[in-house]
Amino acid sequence: MICRKLKKKPLSLTNDGTLCVFFVGVGSAFSKTNYQTNLLIIKGDDHVMIDCGTRAPQALFKLGVPVTAVRHWLITHSHADHIGGLEEIMLMGRYVVRKKPTIVINQAFQNLLWDMSLRGGSAYNEERAGNILTFTDMWDVIRPQWLQGYPRETHEANVGSINLKLFRTMHIPEQSDSWQSSFWSCGVIIDDRVMFTSDTRYDPELLVTFNEKFHIEMIFHDCQFFTGGVHAGIDELAQLPQELKRKMLLTHYGDNWQEKLDRVTSDGFAGLAKQWHYYFF
Ligand SMILES: [Zn+2]
Ligand SMILES: [Zn+2]
Repeated sequence: MICRKLKKKPLSLTNDGTLCVFFVGVGSAFSKTNYQTNLLIIKGDDHVMIDCGTRAPQALFKLGVPVTAVRHWLITHSHADHIGGLEEIMLMGRYVVRKKPTIVINQAFQNLLWDMSLRGGSAYNEERAGNILTFTDMWDVIRPQWLQGYPRETHEANVGSINLKLFRTMHIPEQSDSWQSSFWSCGVIIDDRVMFTSDTRYDPELLVTFNEKFHIEMIFHDCQFFTGGVHAGIDELAQLPQELKRKMLLTHYGDNWQEKLDRVTSDGFAGLAKQWHYYFF
């Protein structure tokens, strides 16, 4: 893996075909010094953006990328740091460029996302003979296939040449004791090589089983600098085997990250994921 800082804006959404992960943001939900943990996967002429938080449109603007230039999306769960920018994506698509973006989403989460989060600001912008807008008026859907024989519920989709495997995670509520009893949330394995957990509590079984199956090259893992609540704490993650920690870059971190850099290294992690850097694989 090679890490390289973005040198020239605008950020290009194409490259020479190398699998690339680019962090539009690396911060926690309420971070004020970094943007929220949302990322772009870029490979050749293909791209997909994972999550679109409240601050993602602003982050893309700062990168020189109009929100309408991002054509493909995958959303991991319903928190606002992952979906808060979607109304802008939908309305800009429908009323400005008049082209629907695509979204990788299964039916269960589509229903939740639309009914519980998005439709209030989207469905009622038009009405024809009593019919209001629906999810598919806003999005072209790529429906992932449920894969059998995986350590936990996993769905697969392709965006051009980019392969995405969506696995269930254990994020909310705090009281749930398994991914099965958690509200919908997922992480992603990209091209069977790179894992992005998105938001999750400490869940060693996830890392051990999927690492065995795929021999993952790098794990971008949710991390907070305290224990408790709905994210993995650094004290918990520090208990993981050395073999896993040395290929883990931590993300979704708080504004006090500079005080924690020594700790991250001394615990044996690869480091903190860096905002506006390319990770090439
Ligand atoms: Zn989050
Ligand atoms: Zn979350």
